[in-house]
Amino acid sequence: MKEFDYIIIGGGCAGLSLAYELEINDKLKDKTLAIIEPRTEYKRDKTWSFWKVISHNFDDCVMKSWENFTINIPKKTNHLECVNYPYQSIDSGLFYEKINDRLKENKNISHFKDISEINSKNSFIFNSVPSIKKDYLNLWQHFCGVEIETHNNFFDDEIFNLMDFDCDQRESVHFFYTLPYSKTKALVETTWLSKMNDNSQKDYDYQIKDYIENHLNLKNYKITYKEEGAIPLFYPTYEETKNQINIGTAGGMTRLSTGYTFLNIQEHSKYICKNIENISKTKKFEIAKKYQFLDDIFLRVLYENPEIMPSIFFKMFKSSPKTVIKFLSNKSNFLEDLSVILKMPKWTFVKALFY
Ligand SMILES: Cc1cc2nc3c(=O)[nH]c(=O)nc-3n(C[C@H](O)[C@H](O)[C@H](O)COP(=O)(O)OP(=O)(O)OC[C@H]3O[C@@H](n4cnc5c(N)ncnc54)[C@H](O)[C@@H]3O)c2cc1C
Repeated sequence: MKEFDYIIIGGGCAGLSLAYELEINDKLKDKTLAIIEPRTEYKRDKTWSFWKVISHNFDDCVMKSWENFTINIPKKTNHLECVNYPYQSIDSGLFYEKINDRLKENKNISHFKDISEINSKNSFIFNSVPSIKKDYLNLWQHFCGVEIETHNNFFDDEIFNLMDFDCDQRESVHFFYTLPYSKTKALVETTWLSKMNDNSQKDYDYQIKDYIENHLNLKNYKITYKEEGAIPLFYPTYEETKNQINIGTAGGMTRLSTGYTFLNIQEHSKYICKNIENISKTKKFEIAKKYQFLDDIFLRVLYENPEIMPSIFFKMFKSSPKTVIKFLSNKSNFLEDLSVILKMPKWTFVKALFY
């Protein structure tokens, strides 16, 4: 069976981002790479959005960028700016196409459906397939979004809505998220932060229809695309092995308080690429410990007190949006951390330390 210098398990966001980073930096000129991916075709299946706090390789896959956003709780709306760190949405279909077109040009890169097709004994492995073992909170961010088109101009495409909590909470944390790509086209997503123990929150189609028709007051529209997903708000467990690094969701690249993962994956890919010649001895890349600690407390508060979370998110954005964005994107300094932390209800958070 054939052997390779490197193996990437999973040709999704993290696997392909890493392969692309290695390829464009000429790290695969004299090395061989096998990508293991079971899917038979690539098509758009996700929309990756984030505040652009660092540069990345995929500006040409951006569907839309915004410099203004809102956050709502019943009867209150906060209008905010993100001029320094625009919010971008990436079309996964364009991302897959761009990367796969480039990888095709290199004869040192091979594709397989299953790891059993090759000899992996002497390779260095980058694994993006998580083994999900639920933690004690078992919190998930689960969601369903539809892209809708209207006949007449309806949306203000200069401003997106990050979180609209003016909706049924069902003793959990629930909000709608609206990304207007143009005046006639938007992604509307229902999002839950919850234990996901049963299916009682999964009537997504009903929730979205009700929100569009009775909250946005839009009656004439058609659905052109749909995406559904669930992001674990806990780190997947895995055994550390000498010749393997986990990447993507499997590698702990999700910021647990927000679900944002895409830019962390890009930073991780750049880090691996920079250290590829000495990868087995390179220090593990991870989201800074201070964010891991703060997110843990935040999720415990969310678990115990879901009813106060809309006002917590709303108050958090009462700090300068630039500061909050840096905090949520793992780029804040100590004073910025403090400014966000001081917006939180102190006693509730102190109590959460002892749950
Ligand atoms: C619908 C959706 C929307 C999201 N939106 C955002 C967002 O807006 N912003 C953000 O920052 N993050 C977002 N995320 C979170 C995160 O960015 C994505 O989940 C991202 O795709 C994670 O990349 P990954 O490579 O870890 O996983 P994936 O992209 O899921 O890649 C894993 C790959 O492994 C393959 N695979 C599965 N089993 C095997 C196997 N046994 N052997 C080999 N390969 C296998 C799969 O087919 C897949 O291609 C979203 C997640 C989802 C599900």
